[in-house]
Amino acid sequence: MQSFDVVEWGKPLQSALKATPVPIGTEVLVRIKYCGVCHSDVHIRDGYFDLGGGKKFRMADRGMTLPVTLGHEPYGTVIAAGPDAKDVPLGQDMLVFPWTGCGSCARCLEGMDNHCMAPRYLGVQRPGGYADHLIVPHARYLVDVKGLDPAWAATLACSGLTTYSAAVKLLPLPKDEWVLVLGAGGLGLSAVAMLRALGHERIVVADLDPAKFAAAKAAGAAATVNAGAADALEQLKAATGGMIYGALDLVGAAATFQLAYATLRKGGRYIVVGLFGGEVSISIVPTIQRAIMIQGSYVGSPQELRDVVALAKAGKIKALPVETRPGERISETLDQLKAGTLIGRVVAQMA
Ligand SMILES: [Zn+2]
Ligand SMILES: [Zn+2]
Repeated sequence: MQSFDVVEWGKPLQSALKATPVPIGTEVLVRIKYCGVCHSDVHIRDGYFDLGGGKKFRMADRGMTLPVTLGHEPYGTVIAAGPDAKDVPLGQDMLVFPWTGCGSCARCLEGMDNHCMAPRYLGVQRPGGYADHLIVPHARYLVDVKGLDPAWAATLACSGLTTYSAAVKLLPLPKDEWVLVLGAGGLGLSAVAMLRALGHERIVVADLDPAKFAAAKAAGAAATVNAGAADALEQLKAATGGMIYGALDLVGAAATFQLAYATLRKGGRYIVVGLFGGEVSISIVPTIQRAIMIQGSYVGSPQELRDVVALAKAGKIKALPVETRPGERISETLDQLKAGTLIGRVVAQMA
């Protein structure tokens, strides 16, 4: 099999040829057709996330040893299964839920793999989908996406699931209240599509790059604001007529945290998803007096992925523009994601 691996932190991926794995136990083997190229792989390839204050969350200190195969939006054909695998859709094309846990703790057993304290994520702790073959630990992580465009369906495994899970933490809100979406990259556009799919229309998108506003409007945003402008807060208030009830932060930087926090009305909710990194200090008293909720949201559960796929099959989610590129261009795509120059999503075509 062929894979595209991180061999040295921060360096371009390298193509590798290795033996195709044989599934054991409950495992299934998937021949990968598509794998979305996600922004979080930029950080993982660099080898760290920025914790702020000069501190870093280093992948090498968290049990990742090189070489590794990234890629956590895999889609492909189930071609083999281990002797203990049951109900395996052999020969069928399936989306793979990548956020697999240890499989045995209380959270995993209740279907909340994404809250497992010993995660075994595909494309992070286990080999991922930047390869033509992938081992999946159990058939319960396969999701049928028949009827959806397969390249777009691949992106539901991370950006779709992540934004859906964040949106259901925020909603329902009164229909006439505004939701602020911070960031108009792939995750931001997906967040707009999820909010719309869940029935919320008053969405204002803020980004540093006005070139992304047309895509935000096309995804369903009602208004856009240049977050880099000196008067961004005033622009936001002018666009929405006042304070914001809910904010989804798909950037997750100190500046977006502060902008969201400053705009929240009493009872406002701020869900932070983006992993740009950094740190903020906030005053405790106004957080209490304004009854503000601050919540982190990380990917989602297997059931939430099935829920988001059901919404997509019902035609409720507007598909984002997806460009397919060969696996050899994953590295270049990660460079563009890092530079912030991509509009919409890129999905690697693996086989
Ligand atoms: Zn991702
Ligand atoms: Zn677990």
